[in-house]
Amino acid sequence: MYNLQLVMLRLLLISLILLSNVVSSKSKCGYSSCNPVKDGMLNVHLVPHTHDDVGWLKTVDQYYYGARTNYQRAGVQYILDSVIEELLKDKTKRFIYVEIAFFARWWRQQHDMTRHLVRGLVNEGRLEFILGGWCMNDEATTHYNAIVDQHALGFEFLRQNFGECGRPRVAWQIDPFGHSREQASLFAQMGFDGLFFGRLDYQDKAKRMNTTTMEMLWRGSPTNLGKKSDLFTGALFNGYGPPGGFCFDLLCNDDPIMDDEEMHDNNKLAKVLQFLIYAKYQAKSYATDHIIMTMGSDFNYQNAHTWYKNLDKLIQYVNEQQNNGSKVNLLYSTPSCYLYQLNRANKTWATKDDDFFPYAHRPHSFWSGYFTSRPTLKEFVRKTNNFLQVCKQMDALAQLDDDVNSTIEIQILREAMGVAQHHDAVSGTEKQHVAHDYAQRLAKGVYECQKVVNDAYNRLLPKGNNKAPGQLYCNLLNISKCDHTENYKQFVTTIYNPLGRNVTSWIRLPVIGKAYTVIDPYGYTVTAQIIPVSSETKRIPERKGSLAKNELVFKVNLPALGFNTYFIQMSNSILDNFIQRTYFRRLQGNGDITIKNQFVALIFDGSTGKLKQMQNLERGVTLPLGQDYLYYVGHPGNNSQPKFQASGAYIFRPNITATHQFRATLKRKSYALQGVLVQEVRQQFSSWLSQVVRLYDNERYAEFEWTVGPIPIQNNYGKEIISRFTSDLKTSGIFYTDANGREMIKRTRDHRDTWNLNQTEEIAGNYYPINSRIYIQDTARDIQLTVLTDRSQGGSSIQDGQVEIMVHRRLLHDDSLGVGEALNETGADGKGLVARGKHYVFLDTVSNSASLHRDMALRLYMAPSVSFSEITTKQTDWRKKYRTSWSGLKKQLPDNVHMLTLEQWGGPTVKPSPTQPYLLRFEHIYENGEDPLLSKPVNISLQDMFVPFEVETVEELTLGANLQLSKLQRLNWMTLDSVRTVKGTGNPATETGNATTNTSNTTTNTSNPTTNTDRSSFVAPSGANNFTITLKPMDIRTFQVTLKKV
Ligand SMILES: [Zn+2]
Repeated sequence: MYNLQLVMLRLLLISLILLSNVVSSKSKCGYSSCNPVKDGMLNVHLVPHTHDDVGWLKTVDQYYYGARTNYQRAGVQYILDSVIEELLKDKTKRFIYVEIAFFARWWRQQHDMTRHLVRGLVNEGRLEFILGGWCMNDEATTHYNAIVDQHALGFEFLRQNFGECGRPRVAWQIDPFGHSREQASLFAQMGFDGLFFGRLDYQDKAKRMNTTTMEMLWRGSPTNLGKKSDLFTGALFNGYGPPGGFCFDLLCNDDPIMDDEEMHDNNKLAKVLQFLIYAKYQAKSYATDHIIMTMGSDFNYQNAHTWYKNLDKLIQYVNEQQNNGSKVNLLYSTPSCYLYQLNRANKTWATKDDDFFPYAHRPHSFWSGYFTSRPTLKEFVRKTNNFLQVCKQMDALAQLDDDVNSTIEIQILREAMGVAQHHDAVSGTEKQHVAHDYAQRLAKGVYECQKVVNDAYNRLLPKGNNKAPGQLYCNLLNISKCDHTENYKQFVTTIYNPLGRNVTSWIRLPVIGKAYTVIDPYGYTVTAQIIPVSSETKRIPERKGSLAKNELVFKVNLPALGFNTYFIQMSNSILDNFIQRTYFRRLQGNGDITIKNQFVALIFDGSTGKLKQMQNLERGVTLPLGQDYLYYVGHPGNNSQPKFQASGAYIFRPNITATHQFRATLKRKSYALQGVLVQEVRQQFSSWLSQVVRLYDNERYAEFEWTVGPIPIQNNYGKEIISRFTSDLKTSGIFYTDANGREMIKRTRDHRDTWNLNQTEEIAGNYYPINSRIYIQDTARDIQLTVLTDRSQGGSSIQDGQVEIMVHRRLLHDDSLGVGEALNETGADGKGLVARGKHYVFLDTVSNSASLHRDMALRLYMAPSVSFSEITTKQTDWRKKYRTSWSGLKKQLPDNVHMLTLEQWGGPTVKPSPTQPYLLRFEHIYENGEDPLLSKPVNISLQDMFVPFEVETVEELTLGANLQLSKLQRLNWMTLDSVRTVKGTGNPATETGNATTNTSNTTTNTSNPTTNTDRSSFVAPSGANNFTITLKPMDIRTFQVTLKKV
């Protein structure tokens, strides 16, 4: 047996070497490598592909190796092994690969010879990377920061290993459940020529098929970025599967093509005719003589031969019919080759300005449940993005470069975050064991990056040659648990601010004592307040073992891109006790209770205990505003027919449109806490749902912290819990939600911009993803009510004047879309997951609101990072040995600019060195017209920006950081509403080609695509003394810089 395997292996190696002759050394990738088409015929682009979920029913590891076949017969390693072997046999064959999380792992396991052969295939366009992100990310519940990072991660792998021929030209979002306009905008800025996807609302699709507008020019940022955010977009005909009867994978049940003429059940002609009928039927819905067919599906091509053998026959036999007058021509193709033919077709295309949310595939099947599914995983992903940015920044600022493994450690978190953006990860639509795996990966990555932060502090903290104290972390501060603050009478906390400007922040630390002294970095005492941990918090099962009875609250001022150290010591001082005490009042009787600070007043009804009014004291705005928790009962259908659709991980479907209220015992269980720094109203809506409403001193927002769960299921009904704000604002059915945390999109209840909606689900059909905020406006009264979230959630405005946000859901039925499990998270104690989070509410004028929510959104997703150290000396001694305040910036960035990225750049295989490039992204965080001042263009200079180093050379890159911006060429498209640019007349043979592996240098062509020239500002080349850049509203600009140490 062993010998036989050895012989087979040798034979394979020999044949591979022989086959390597078919791979020529000259690269010819890109549009010039496409198989020829036949003009005057219907060209059917057959695209062999596999859709490899980066975790879903199985973990990403199980999918790679092919474990747990009881869940799914899927092993990605076999797919790549098998496909490469088939591609090497025949120059005409094509394959696309998409998910770099899998490909990179496979690549790391290959021998040099295989790598050489694969590079050859890539250089000839026979194996083409499409999309090229670490995963195919979800579009509804992802934050743009994480989207950019996960694409840059995949791109960098491709750039390092395949050079320009590895640069993906087409985005491929074939499975995500609805499509975000911001995603389109980001793709355009990454330099993609087009996007194809598989899922769109069934009503939308029917109309587009009728009007041959399945393909269009999508305006990713119509009012801000304009043309550079335009993206050609095509909706695929049959999702991402092959035509019925033509799935030739071993996983499929369709017959192969049986072409033995002697056989009684020869099906050759029948298959040909069936295919021709299908092709012509599909062609009716598309505008050109070209159609694309996705020949593959989930985890197809584990045995690539079965697919290719039958596709070879299909191509041969269908094309043979051309001798009989058939005008249908089949070819092996790729999405980019298909796109190129659309571009050549010289058509004008429809445009689209809104997005593709929410997605419904049937009248009662709206995929708006996953906007909220698995709320704690969603929060963990958002928080981990925060920490990844901190980690990368501190690694860069400390210039960790030699004896520490920071590059590898950061890579672990980068990859974990890349995996977590997958459309069955942060979306919450995976099996429970896979959700645990994602969380475990993130936790491991965070742990690794904590080492990096520790190493960075080792460089940044000491004055002289002292060794810095180790940093300790508390990952459960949100539920008031922290060993380091609970177990020590004195400790130090060092707090890093990842924003490019000074911020203030509120620190809450679980403690056991009744009074503490807090000393700031300069030795001055800071006002602090002690506030009791609530009984609702104490009940959270994950807090088991915590001794904390109180929380210590204080405000910190933090320098831009820097840290401050605070000293904390338990105190017995009567004075401290007096100042820090929090006063307690029950909400009872009929007297209303008001809490207020300098800017906001909140009035709670004495008879119900609920919020009834919010005031903006600065502007004299008073708004009757109620806030309540309610729930929908999830439809318990058995999915046997479309009308019996159950509510589940993907689908939101209430059993009736009415909400259910909690019994009105709120009053007796609510009370107010008042102190010098924070005032709170604590409300208990039921035994499993409580809330704290907070006003911090001198802040313009009101904070609503909800604690929900375990959601009871004893009555066999699943529940979907919402927080609802109710006002008398006249909003005419209009509300606004953000797209991936960036631009705002106008929503109109029971309306879609591009078709006449037949609304079949009054609630779920009006739900939209909220990544960071939702607001409503009454323009006549000049009032805007804005609610920010701390994670992605679903929400809507079901009645005028209302905002509702779904915070948690627990369901007992699978929704029959593949995951095969009910969304029933049971938490640490098995009784039902408790979720906690916050909403931040602003009430202001319309014109003043953007400056509040833009700033706050940034403060939330780039929050300060808190770590702790033991202290055994006097704090005065500490200050002699260590810096207690440090900023990495010479001056703060302007209020409308955000440093989106600061990191050492070069990937895990590049050895860190002083000449290694750094990556910087700067972003204008306002939209046009949002704010009278802050929406204006702004200049910043990269010179004299950083404390530890000077920028020496600057090169602007595309958003994905895989191409110099000056070399970017994108296809131009003519549109129906305006002929914007005249397309060139080049042919496919003119595209950029001359790439070599391991470098990104290309020979640019000048015939067809035009170079991107719509940058209004100038970046000085290396050696020049002017590094000023201009940022216009919503611009993100990406720079590779080299540094010199100062
Ligand atoms: Zn998928």
